[in-house]
Amino acid sequence: RSWWSQVEMGPPDAILGVTEAFKKDTNPKKINLGVGAYRDDNGKPFVLPSVLKAEEQMRAKKLDHEYGPIGGTAEFCKHSITLALGDSNEHVANGLNSTVQGISGTGALRIGGAFLQKFFPGNKTVYLPTPSWGNHTPIFKHSGLDVKQYRYYDPKTCGFDFQGALQDIAKIPEKSVILLHACAHNPTGVDPKPEQWAEISKVIKDKQLFPFFDMAYQGFASGDVSKDAAAVRLFLKDGHQIALAQSFAKNMGLYGERAGAFSLITSSKDDADRTLSQLKIIIRPMYSNPPVHGARIVSEILGDANLKSIWLKDVKEMAERIISMRTMLRDNLAKEGSSRNWQHITDQIGMFCFTGMNPAQVEQLTSKYSVYLTKDGRISIAGVTSQNVGYLAHAMHQVTK
Ligand code: PLP
Repeated sequence: RSWWSQVEMGPPDAILGVTEAFKKDTNPKKINLGVGAYRDDNGKPFVLPSVLKAEEQMRAKKLDHEYGPIGGTAEFCKHSITLALGDSNEHVANGLNSTVQGISGTGALRIGGAFLQKFFPGNKTVYLPTPSWGNHTPIFKHSGLDVKQYRYYDPKTCGFDFQGALQDIAKIPEKSVILLHACAHNPTGVDPKPEQWAEISKVIKDKQLFPFFDMAYQGFASGDVSKDAAAVRLFLKDGHQIALAQSFAKNMGLYGERAGAFSLITSSKDDADRTLSQLKIIIRPMYSNPPVHGARIVSEILGDANLKSIWLKDVKEMAERIISMRTMLRDNLAKEGSSRNWQHITDQIGMFCFTGMNPAQVEQLTSKYSVYLTKDGRISIAGVTSQNVGYLAHAMHQVTK
């Protein structure tokens, strides 16, 4: 007799499935554009020089492996929120933030989901952009919240559907939660322009919606950590109280270390203190306390002026390689003689590009050219290098001409 014969086989993860298929392919020209992790121009994982140096400094300190605090160290939390809101930020100075470490960005979103489920005084529905990161819906549903959508991506322009977004946001019931990608929207690479953010902020304010920012790519989009945090900072300037999930996976290359943060920016220090106490109560039965190594690296870097300046250069280098690969891909498509408008490749920003290729074209790209990507036509620019960009452009042109 088995306890588990009634358990159905679940579907494989859509993105990990792409990598599995890629590994099996014996074509020497194969390219994996499914991965959501940065690669250098040789297609290799990248350990940031600032991170290596931070780890050296940490080794010299002969640190122990004791438990950390439930919400992560005060130092880590302070550095994280200061990076998001900017040095000498008045919210942080006045104690208007309750910040805890999360198990990277995913864990931060999940803590936020649990907190909203328990305490949000409005409509416990999170409105997500269409499309959004594939894990958002499961995270918020798993937290016990309802999930609905607002228009975001316009397939006709491969750009932002600004009017559609405004119309839909204006129809969201008052006092609901709206999720916003702070920068480098995943999976589309399409971000609102600064003046569009200003209008979005206004509509959200008018409708009394609660903005929950997911900032998984600060610095990774433009290469400038302040520029990439502009939307978050604008919303605070406009008087919103917000929730914020941060991740150090991409901007510090700490994917497997699981360093991230969840914050509420509140209207009083008293609100911050009470919500912080409840965030810890939520975390304790989930996993007791977060992993320490990645968070120590973050603190070491952000707490040391020299290391921080090296890190800012590292992030810039990653962002600039991505941006230059976008240009090279577009140039190579033109060289191939493609008559399609590929402008969106360089208009979009961050790790991902929504190419506009349809499922049949994606299918051909994989079966004929061994180029692996998700069915929605999303490519990870991190997988593009100066060596493979010519072949990729050729393949894309062949399946789209
Ligand atoms: N949010 C978005 C939009 C993402 O793209 C990702 C990673 O791909 C995450 C959050 C969280 O990633 P992690 O849990 O690795 O920090």
